[in-house]
Amino acid sequence: MATLEIECPVCAEVLELTDEDRAELQVGDVIVCDSCHSEMEVTRNDGGEDFELELLGAMTTCPNCDEEFEVTAEMLQAAPMTRAQDGVEVALMTCPHCRAKFELELADEES
Ligand SMILES: [Zn+2]
Ligand SMILES: [Zn+2]
Repeated sequence: MATLEIECPVCAEVLELTDEDRAELQVGDVIVCDSCHSEMEVTRNDGGEDFELELLGAMTTCPNCDEEFEVTAEMLQAAPMTRAQDGVEVALMTCPHCRAKFELELADEES
């Protein structure tokens, strides 16, 4: 049975989808990453390698104004990456509410 491996856009965990899994998935369905619990919506599922996901975004809370907002794949790509003092890779996010910048630690468990 063919297994499609997709990489979580947030934590790079590899998610395996069997043909059986995919047969049950429809465009618009949501997959949740086992590792970081990000939600991804299926945007294409036409068989073979023809499979696409769109990150629905992880929710995070701004440490400055306490507003919760969604971190999308675009925001992560646009965010400068840096390393915190303990060597953890963090993204420098800008809060859409108060415009404060803060470091967002990506849920990148050791794998
Ligand atoms: Zn993940
Ligand atoms: Zn804020």
